[in-house]
Amino acid sequence: MKDISKAQEDIIRSFGGNKLKDHNYFPAFFNELFVFLSNKPKDEPIDPELFDIWENNKEYSGSAESPRGIRYSPEAINQIDNYFKRSDYLDINPKIKIDGRTNIVFLLGAGASAPSNIPTVNLLLPELLKRAKKIGREDLDRLAKFCEERELKNIEDLLTAAYISNFAVKNRNVNSLLKYFLMNDDKIQQKFFRSLESDASSISFLQDTLQTLFGLLASTMISAKPNQTHEEIVKFAKTHQKCSIITTNYDGCMDEAILRAGMRLKNYINEDNYFINVDDLDKLKEQQPVNLIKMHGSINWAYCDSCQGVKEFDLLFLKESYEENKLSYPVMGLCKICGGLSRPLLVPPLSFKILMFPKLIDLWNSAKEEIEKADYLIVIGYSFAEADTYITKIVARSMSVNKNQRMIVVNTDPNLVAILKDRFEAQINGFDSKRIIRLCESSDTAMVKLLRNMSASKESTEK
Ligand SMILES: [Zn+2]
Repeated sequence: MKDISKAQEDIIRSFGGNKLKDHNYFPAFFNELFVFLSNKPKDEPIDPELFDIWENNKEYSGSAESPRGIRYSPEAINQIDNYFKRSDYLDINPKIKIDGRTNIVFLLGAGASAPSNIPTVNLLLPELLKRAKKIGREDLDRLAKFCEERELKNIEDLLTAAYISNFAVKNRNVNSLLKYFLMNDDKIQQKFFRSLESDASSISFLQDTLQTLFGLLASTMISAKPNQTHEEIVKFAKTHQKCSIITTNYDGCMDEAILRAGMRLKNYINEDNYFINVDDLDKLKEQQPVNLIKMHGSINWAYCDSCQGVKEFDLLFLKESYEENKLSYPVMGLCKICGGLSRPLLVPPLSFKILMFPKLIDLWNSAKEEIEKADYLIVIGYSFAEADTYITKIVARSMSVNKNQRMIVVNTDPNLVAILKDRFEAQINGFDSKRIIRLCESSDTAMVKLLRNMSASKESTEK
């Protein structure tokens, strides 16, 4: 990554300060800025201070007494705005100051787990099908063929198909279901409903294959290890109590990093912590539990289809026994309450998921509350996918209700922030696009810088 150029430093130094002394300085500033931005190499970062000076002074461009009769066309103003908005490396050194009362919420998506070698949703299905072909199991071959015929390209589409089929079997009142889907504008749901409607045999097939699919899924995730992103978040959470972690990932990387650091997790699933060693209990009770909310379920949560019971298994115990080949995977087994079959609770991004997992309503409500009270929402490797309407809506509402909330987006896709800014500008009256800060780097390197900066700013305010 290149450093901030001397040209920028010069402009900032000569025009520095939040506000130019008066509009007489504006033409020179405008010209220098315009020339600099038009010639700037694309990968050169922009100093956020330069952006601040522009934002604080651009009103002068509308000044009627513009000296020497210089006119600033709306096109030129827009062009400068766009240079800033689209710049890949804007906000690379965000000046973020926090203190002990600052509420921080981390929102993790697939990109946060990618360095742990978990294939992204798009890669997971081809990976599973490749394995299926290798072992030559008949049920897996059928699954591969099923996906091929329906052009199912990623695991979430397949999960969606599987859940819809399951839902259709359980809810015989298909008319109301049909209405529900037709009223809903979710394209994926409509697509699958139509494909399943015409193919009754695929429903029973998917039922049979669900267990196999979940087993395969769990096996790709159970041995994944926490990466730098998870470790940095844990280090931060250790010293900053007012923080929550919300994730859409099914894997156990975040959980493992927290547990291995000797902290405990706030319990959303089990009534009791029966799996904790009694000797450790008193010690553990003293600490504040870490608030980790797994919106889409977890490989160590067992869900029973018959009684809808949910049970959490000790993640570290599961991982260890899996690695040592000691145990079969107990998440997939018999339900202790009703004797039905249980499987890992993994929720595809569907807008009707609340209907399907009533036990998760409290968990989703907690996520909503945490997001709404955040001063900083740090979004890591999460892409605000269209199918994930629930989270996208909570975040938009939160940014609208909590006017001081700022969002830091850590994502390698440089366009994501521009899209979010456009979206919020359209949805929220007078939205200040500076509330979204972009860190366009891979999460493991970006998080080290960001969280260490934040911790340092906290120490300096506490002195
Ligand atoms: Zn059951």
